[in-house]
Amino acid sequence: MSNTDFALAVEDLTVSFDGFKAIDSLTLYIDRNELRVIIGPNGAGKTTLLDLICGKTRATGGSIKFKNQELSKMPEHQRVRLGIGRKFQTPSIYENLSVFQNLEVSYPTGRSVWGALAFKCSDEVKARVQVVAEDIGLGDKLEMEAGLLSHGQKQWLEIGMLLMQEPELLMLDEPIAGMSARERELTAELLQRICKNRAVIVIEHDMEFVKRIAHKVTVMHQGKILAEGPMDKVQSNPKVIDVYLGH
Ligand code: ADP
Ligand code: MG
Repeated sequence: MSNTDFALAVEDLTVSFDGFKAIDSLTLYIDRNELRVIIGPNGAGKTTLLDLICGKTRATGGSIKFKNQELSKMPEHQRVRLGIGRKFQTPSIYENLSVFQNLEVSYPTGRSVWGALAFKCSDEVKARVQVVAEDIGLGDKLEMEAGLLSHGQKQWLEIGMLLMQEPELLMLDEPIAGMSARERELTAELLQRICKNRAVIVIEHDMEFVKRIAHKVTVMHQGKILAEGPMDKVQSNPKVIDVYLGH
């Protein structure tokens, strides 16, 4: 397989903070339509890796290729336009706006200079909002003020806001933290649905949840990859049990 067949190719990626390598010569490939879960102890560098891919943090060395374009020197907004969506741990929705309005404002105004100038057809936006709202299980809550949603529903709304941009790579950092058992189940189904059209990277600690959703699991430790593969293989790896699962 050549590098162009991957949704994302991270090669020899390094970032150091005052000499401390939070990511240390890391190489990782994600397939199109793959749902990859990244696990590992606190401080392993999981969040930092997502920061590097979305452009919040600049790499010290190495390469990040997405759709065969080099990202590592590209500003964050340009990466968003290329199709990278990132959800942070705390949801950033507009609490005073309705679910509909939250989704509406997330509709991209255009990915090119001409697109930005083009007339935004309101029927097209409405149709897209409807599709995304159904996808995230909020189809019957469009008029509700976002602040009144449950914690889980707020998380889904934020995922929906990212889906409005139709990202080709979606990254989620601990999306089920604080969710009820039922909300976790629904989130697993949601993630399985949305990875049909895109690559998805999820950082998660809940092993039952990881088992349900992961196509492949990457285990990080001290800025490096400790193990990678299907969940059952990774789970029985003595090194993984030693640094992470055994605790
Ligand atoms: P994880 O998400 O796996 O728990 P992080 O990526 O948050 O780990 O952190 C990895 C390591 O990098 C930690 O030791 C953290 O303190 C350090 N780190 C992360 N961001 C910065 C930064 N901006 N400046 C200095 N150190 C950082
Ligand atoms: Mg983290």
